[in-house]
Amino acid sequence: MKRADIRVLVLDDEPFILKLHARMLKDLGFTSCSTFEQGTLALAALDAGLKPDLILLDLSMPGMDGIEFIRHLVKRAFAGALVLVSGEDERLLETGERLVRAHGISILGHIGKPVKPGPLGAMLDSWDRGTGAMARARVKTYSANDLREGLRSGQLVNHYQPKVSLKTGDVTGVECLARWLHPQDGLVMPEHFIALAEQNGLIDDLTRVAFSRAMTDISDLERAGFPLQVSVNLAATTLGSIDFADFAAHEAQRASVRLRCLHDESCSPLFCTESQLIKDLRAPLEVLTRLRLMRFTLSIDDFGTGYSSLAQLRTIPFDELKIDQSFVHRAAHDATARAIYDASLGLAKQLNMTTVAEGVEDRVDWNLVRESGCDEAQGYFVARPMAASDLPAWRDAWRRRCATELTVE
Ligand code: C2E
Ligand code: CA
Repeated sequence: MKRADIRVLVLDDEPFILKLHARMLKDLGFTSCSTFEQGTLALAALDAGLKPDLILLDLSMPGMDGIEFIRHLVKRAFAGALVLVSGEDERLLETGERLVRAHGISILGHIGKPVKPGPLGAMLDSWDRGTGAMARARVKTYSANDLREGLRSGQLVNHYQPKVSLKTGDVTGVECLARWLHPQDGLVMPEHFIALAEQNGLIDDLTRVAFSRAMTDISDLERAGFPLQVSVNLAATTLGSIDFADFAAHEAQRASVRLRCLHDESCSPLFCTESQLIKDLRAPLEVLTRLRLMRFTLSIDDFGTGYSSLAQLRTIPFDELKIDQSFVHRAAHDATARAIYDASLGLAKQLNMTTVAEGVEDRVDWNLVRESGCDEAQGYFVARPMAASDLPAWRDAWRRRCATELTVE
């Protein structure tokens, strides 16, 4: 989508700021911009049919403040993205940002006042570059039947995001992330179909399709001289299907993917368990214990969030702990995130688990996780998820980067 086609709404009680922001947006190419001085007026426009793709929202306004406006946006199922703007202190903006996320609204970030073209431009640029964020601005919803048909006709594909050792720079593995190659809409991201799959009993099929394809891709890469460990995300429902361990072993054998032998920990496929509530532990415990006995590797994902918790560490024999990106990317600037990051790292070390920092997005994150003694890093700073066929060329470029710019190896 071109910038001129993105509909922007700006809400701020100060007329001067409104003019300034509209001007800045215009200079950045966002020419379709509506401005409002009051929340009630903006809501009336939404009710009259205005469908903004992006909202720049001032938090502190007399009358209806930004927080109340967000609640009204939720009621109206706002499907675009939000930028929070405020002269309030950083912690308040962060809390506001968390609230927006908790409501399931996509947020690009927060900016302190006065807004300058540089930071706003950078935020909107990364929205542009981000995982199809511009296309995502106009969210299309899919039905369970669309997804069922997509699964049946092989439209679900795997992308892989590399993980690297923070000590040596070596590529230690890849995480398998599902994508839907939609015949009309192009590459559709998981946020538009994973929940749908979970709610309609399709997640088990989706995981099995992703796992089988991952085994084939990993086997092909190994034959091409690039042995890799792959991790696959497991939803709680899949952990409840008692034959999953046998299925996984069968698929690994079909593709001739080695499971780890006693002296080689590096190659066996790895399962990431997601942070959902597991109500009845009996089936998941059986599945996970059997996977472990079959020498698959187990990882606890998004550690620190949702149900990815201390209690699970006690019951399930995990080999790896992935610290959630919300604690990694913020750790450099946010003392609370840093404390949780450090505590998670310490805990994993005490339990002899490999530690992975997720969401290493920039050099600040990279330096922080390296210095903290974490084992591995995954994130946009290293690589975005990509097709299996792009991995060898990425690895060559990464090695060059390690030798020159990153001073590892
Ligand atoms: P996840 O397991 O937490 O996966 C990491 C997500 O963070 C991926 O999003 C990845 O592209 C994104 N990411 C990686 N590095 C960075 C970074 O530096 N910064 C930021 N902001 N994000 C980063 P993606 O591919 O959109 O997947 C979203 C979620 O969908 C995954 O979260 C996972 O929960 C779920 N998912 C994806 N594929 C599957 C699947 O095959 N099965 C199941 N059950 N869930 C899946
Ligand atoms: Ca994951």
